[in-house]
Amino acid sequence: MADLRELYQELILDHSKKPRNYREMPNANRRVEGFNPLCGDHFTVYMDMEGETVKDVSFQGSGCALSKASASMMTQALKGKTKTDAEALFERFHDLVTGKAGEAQAESLGKLAVFSGVSDFPVRVKCASLAWHAMKAAIEGDAEQVSTE
Ligand code: ZN
Repeated sequence: MADLRELYQELILDHSKKPRNYREMPNANRRVEGFNPLCGDHFTVYMDMEGETVKDVSFQGSGCALSKASASMMTQALKGKTKTDAEALFERFHDLVTGKAGEAQAESLGKLAVFSGVSDFPVRVKCASLAWHAMKAAIEGDAEQVSTE
């Protein structure tokens, strides 16, 4: 398991250093700011929804390596998904970081399974899930700001 953990560390490090889809989206029709006061993570998630489909998703802001890597990998996972798929992915990811996911569920998340270790560190769960909460609010269109507190 040590090698696997190392690989996971590398993946998180890579995404935190070179976040994907890290840009403002002027034509976004959804935009939600997420705060995690406990750690100081602060991101804006942008989405371009076309009907029920996530046409494009991006984010910008600042935060710890974990929160940034999670946001980066989330944007990769969401592009082209439907609203229903995105909400289901949110639930599965949330189960993963809170330690409620079984092995099969973790595996079904692909690369996102790297965040399973977070469940051992309750304080970091908020870092890993911040962008996801913002995304969920954006997709449901019921808030412009979310906070983990
Ligand atoms: Zn953080």
